[in-house]
Amino acid sequence: MISVDEALGIVLDVSKRLPPVTVPIHDALGKVLAQDIRAPDPLPPYPASIKDGYAVIAADGPGEYPIITESRAGNDGLGVIVTPGTVAYVTTGGPIPDGADAVVQVEDTERVETASSEPNRVRILVKINKGVDIRPVGCDISKDAIVLKADELLGAAEIGLLATVGVLTVKVYPTPTIGVLSTGDELVEPTNESLSRGKIRDSNRAMILAAAIQQKCKVVDLGIVGDDEDEIRAVLDKALSTDNHIDILLTSGGVSMGDRDFVKPLLQQKGRVYFDKINMKPGKPLTFAELTTEKMKKVVAFGLPGNPVSCLVCFNLFVIPSIRNLSGWINPRLPRVQVYLKHSIKTDNFRKEFCRAIIKWENNAGFGFPGFVAEVTGHQMSSRLLSMKSANALLELSPSGKVIPSGSLVSATLISDLSGFATLITQEVQSTTSMKVSGDYKVAILTVSDTVASGAGPDRSGPRAVSVVESCSEKLGGATVAETAVVPDEIENIREILKRWSDVDKMDLILTLGGTGFTPRDVTPEATKGVIEKETPGLLYVMMQESLKVTQFAMLSRAAAGIRGSTLIINMPGNPNAVGECMDALIPALKHALKQIKGDKREKHPRHVPHAHADSKDVWESSFQAANNLTKQDPPSSLHTCGCE
Ligand code: AMP
Ligand code: MG
Repeated sequence: MISVDEALGIVLDVSKRLPPVTVPIHDALGKVLAQDIRAPDPLPPYPASIKDGYAVIAADGPGEYPIITESRAGNDGLGVIVTPGTVAYVTTGGPIPDGADAVVQVEDTERVETASSEPNRVRILVKINKGVDIRPVGCDISKDAIVLKADELLGAAEIGLLATVGVLTVKVYPTPTIGVLSTGDELVEPTNESLSRGKIRDSNRAMILAAAIQQKCKVVDLGIVGDDEDEIRAVLDKALSTDNHIDILLTSGGVSMGDRDFVKPLLQQKGRVYFDKINMKPGKPLTFAELTTEKMKKVVAFGLPGNPVSCLVCFNLFVIPSIRNLSGWINPRLPRVQVYLKHSIKTDNFRKEFCRAIIKWENNAGFGFPGFVAEVTGHQMSSRLLSMKSANALLELSPSGKVIPSGSLVSATLISDLSGFATLITQEVQSTTSMKVSGDYKVAILTVSDTVASGAGPDRSGPRAVSVVESCSEKLGGATVAETAVVPDEIENIREILKRWSDVDKMDLILTLGGTGFTPRDVTPEATKGVIEKETPGLLYVMMQESLKVTQFAMLSRAAAGIRGSTLIINMPGNPNAVGECMDALIPALKHALKQIKGDKREKHPRHVPHAHADSKDVWESSFQAANNLTKQDPPSSLHTCGCE
């Protein structure tokens, strides 16, 4: 049985990008671009008016002037020259006639009554500067500028850009075609007639077809097949050999331990099964394989569990990232956020649990701070599809068999977009979530704490570190927090996530918070030393040097730091205030370090590295105290259990 993270790593490794295709731009929405797009000409192609008003010579100033021409949007604007003492009427987007060098908006003018035989006149009421309300040539897009880059996802604005630069067909990665098959002797087509004994309506196929269509995939309905090895083989053979061009095969049912569960052995016969059990709840029997057709085409196959909730949870956690990888996405994982629990939840003893919840943004979510609050969707049996209804998040609950009290902060994977309550989302979301992935450098923040991981106390350091990183984002050369997580002080847990964030998610910088002191449970430095390939003692030296100025307890830090692949990992103290202070000390060299790790040889050593100011706060002492004074919350008032698989 493998972990969820390992399983996802394998799925992403196997699910390779499909070869690009050329499509008309009206078919490109939602696809990933496979080429750079350059503007063949500037926009605007001529100096254009920003306002409805009068094109003037700025030096003329206020006064009464004859209107010698009218230049409306769509005119070429050529032919008439605005000379001193004259003006031209212009509309928004209209070309500025030669000679004029500014536009006075119509609100700052008065029309003057003139005899019909005379040219119209206008009174200019204000003095303006040269260039006012004129868009010069190329001010929106300069000629030859790259307006879109390969790997960018095409939304409505991007399609607009393609149109504006005259690109009518475009190279994109196609979305996969997905075949969906239900297996089970008990299944009948959805019918409004009463069911004979032992039969149930097939819900998985309609659900998974809908979920695949929602991911903008083409779908092939492969129907229902009974629990008969030969029949399933025949359906699979047909699905893979005909002209369906299936890229992903999804079956549901028949992957458990029953004597008529034939899906797994059949996938084994047709290719390579990578895993058939995951340490998760629900979804334990998920089976993943890569099949090879007679024409040597590779097909990614998921044997989804039959229980409808397990089936859809696995679709969200594994099939969507696979679809996105095939479709060329750079970041195929579902976004995650930190949420406050509305109820207490009892965790499973052994398996990581994905508890269905409805999350909402609240202004007073936890400890007076705004944030997401999660309400569990009732009983969590894996057969009870009602627990998936309206759920927009899967709470990630590490196994401990303990109760996580209400008010605790836990990670959640988003499984639907949040636009339904977008109006409630304020600026703060950005500092408490891990959804942003733009910027040059991706930062991951790992809170290492038994207290936080077990739900006995809130994570104060993690959210603080997110806002510290984001507030010095520019100084770091454009850094955004792409991942956050909480793990207990367990060397294996820490090591596993550091490896995943470095090797799979390709983070540029990982900051760990906590577990660097002298208590028997403090093992963050040991875990870190176990994964880094090169040590970076200078960073520790700088943090230590600054901290020693304010407290002798600095000498008690056992922090480690180093490089794994192209990821820099730095251990920081667990105290919420200390992260900002440590970052202050490192900032002068961190941007340079990140560039160098990325292999940018052009980056020169700065000749003068300014010395960071030590904050007067007692960094190491406070982190030392935090490590020893673990706060405990009141016992839970109500208990929510996440039920069976
Ligand atoms: P299985 O994975 O085949 O052992 O099935 C586990 C449970 O899921 C059983 O109770 C099945 O009846 C149910 N199940 C399997 N396939 C479907 C389906 N397509 N629609 C609804 N329930 C299903
Ligand atoms: Mg079955």
